[in-house]
Amino acid sequence: MKALAWHGKRDVRVDTVPDPKIEEPTDAIIRVTTTGLCGSDLHLYELLGPFLDEGDILGHEPMGIVEEVGSGVTTLQQGDRVVIPFQISCGACYMCSQDLQTQCETTQVRDHGMGAALFGFSKLYGQVAGGQAEYLRVPQAQYTHIKVPEEGASLSDDRFVYLSDVLPTAWQSVEYAGIPEGGSLTVLGLGPIGDMASRIAKHRGHRVIAVDLVPERLQRARNNGVEVLDMREHKKLGDTIREMTDGRGTDSVIDAVGMEAHGSPFGKIAHQMTGLLPDAIAAKMMETAG
Ligand SMILES: [Zn+2]
Ligand SMILES: [Zn+2]
Repeated sequence: MKALAWHGKRDVRVDTVPDPKIEEPTDAIIRVTTTGLCGSDLHLYELLGPFLDEGDILGHEPMGIVEEVGSGVTTLQQGDRVVIPFQISCGACYMCSQDLQTQCETTQVRDHGMGAALFGFSKLYGQVAGGQAEYLRVPQAQYTHIKVPEEGASLSDDRFVYLSDVLPTAWQSVEYAGIPEGGSLTVLGLGPIGDMASRIAKHRGHRVIAVDLVPERLQRARNNGVEVLDMREHKKLGDTIREMTDGRGTDSVIDAVGMEAHGSPFGKIAHQMTGLLPDAIAAKMMETAG
């Protein structure tokens, strides 16, 4: 099959590699029909080289059709259309029973002190082959899937694929923001997460003020009823937002600016430092910092 493989910093290639096979009774193989690119992929592209091997397959936002299931997978069958979540979880451990699937105890990567294994996301998260590929082996497939319901059969993949990562990430950011009933929210950054968080907060009845500097992103948010501020025109954003909110500011703020975004101070320092250090030391630093 063809798959997107990592070869080095800023060097990824579409390679021909062996098709994945069922390795455990809890595996399934899916034929990928749509797969997302993510801001998180930039961590691998730019920074996490010390934790990647040449040939590692990237990608963690896939959906597709089940081709084959292991003997232990009774919840899926060939032909099912599924979205595959970023994190691999068993559905049966203590953490999964608490709805903390990102900490699944069956797949946790304890060697690196991390949570559940993730698709296509370096040794820090289990070095599991990712979904920017024609086929994907899904471990813990009895639970690691979201079945597209019957009534969605006529709808295209892009109605569902965001369930893998972007939509739940944005939804959870609004949960964590703890906006009071009828309260207000500032969203910094209108990339995919910021845009979806804005729409979710609007959907839940909140006033949303969002900040970006890309005209198309500002326009898209404006079309969705979000009040937008172009940061190129407002040098003192805090003052502007206070003026818009009776001098108090919004109740909550979501920072949705990516670590690798242009101008992000953390990203810049991390790039400079990991670029200069030997792999072993850079690995330790990224493990601690990122
Ligand atoms: Zn993602
Ligand atoms: Zn679990």
